[in-house]
Amino acid sequence: MSNQIPGWFTETFQDEGTAFSLQVKNKLHEEQSPFQQIEIYETETFGNLMVLDGCVMLTQRDNFLYHEMMTHPAIFTHRTPLKVVIIGGGDCGTLCEVMKHPDIREAWQVEIDERVTRVSEQFFPELCTANNDPRANFFFGDGIKWLADAAPDSLDIIIVDSTDPVGPAEGLFAVDFYRDCWVALKEGGILVQQSESPLLHSGTIIKGVHKDMRTAGFSRVQTLPFPQPVYPTGWWSCTMAGKGKKLDVFREGDAREKPFVTQYYNVDIHRAALAVPEFMRRDLEID
Ligand code: SAM
Repeated sequence: MSNQIPGWFTETFQDEGTAFSLQVKNKLHEEQSPFQQIEIYETETFGNLMVLDGCVMLTQRDNFLYHEMMTHPAIFTHRTPLKVVIIGGGDCGTLCEVMKHPDIREAWQVEIDERVTRVSEQFFPELCTANNDPRANFFFGDGIKWLADAAPDSLDIIIVDSTDPVGPAEGLFAVDFYRDCWVALKEGGILVQQSESPLLHSGTIIKGVHKDMRTAGFSRVQTLPFPQPVYPTGWWSCTMAGKGKKLDVFREGDAREKPFVTQYYNVDIHRAALAVPEFMRRDLEID
């Protein structure tokens, strides 16, 4: 049975018995990179849409929710963030949010697939406006290996902005990778990872991420849910892990006085995202 209705892009989730569709005007681009199939569509109401291996990555209309929540809670939780590394994040939206912070001295985007970045420069130019910032650096290669080779105690924040835990991203959801992150972070450092849907994955992937992060040495772990209309269930999450840093307190004054514009993130949103729903408390065994 074909999933595609003419004039619509549909991603189906067989295990969940659900699907998500966007009405499309045109297919703007399609290629097979060495790592994945990259498709770009122009939609009727959500701007341009990027799809990797059939999975929705982002749209121009709603990506701010994900990119802001992957970035600002972690940066405002760190006491003195200077050096940030993004693993994945090829669309450059997370880098764009990181570069809004004047305190950040150096940022690296470590993306396995250079074609994702080149295609984003063409079809999502608004996400790539910080790419020429002199503080921004690019490395195209495997983030797992990059982190394994990183100098100990050299990073303040690691943001894992990856695809789902299959294929090249599978090893980014693993205790060995978290151990390498723990070693590479300075004391007080923070790891933050996109951690899938609270509704679908609280008792499975998110529970596993908490367990593995703690096994790797992180003393604090906190999942922050946020809305994301184009991902399965419309509800997504990131999980922060602190190397000796409490995660439920952040630089509220700095966040309130932030010298840049956001569309979703503010102090109240940050505080609200720290609240843990009852079913997640049970799944994650939080007292
Ligand atoms: N916002 C998106 C989401 O959650 O669906 C993620 C966006 S970003 C496009 C994800 C990127 O992670 C992809 O471009 C992919 O190539 C990259 N990626 C996957 N595995 C990787 C690895 N091991 N090292 C570096 N980048 C990786």
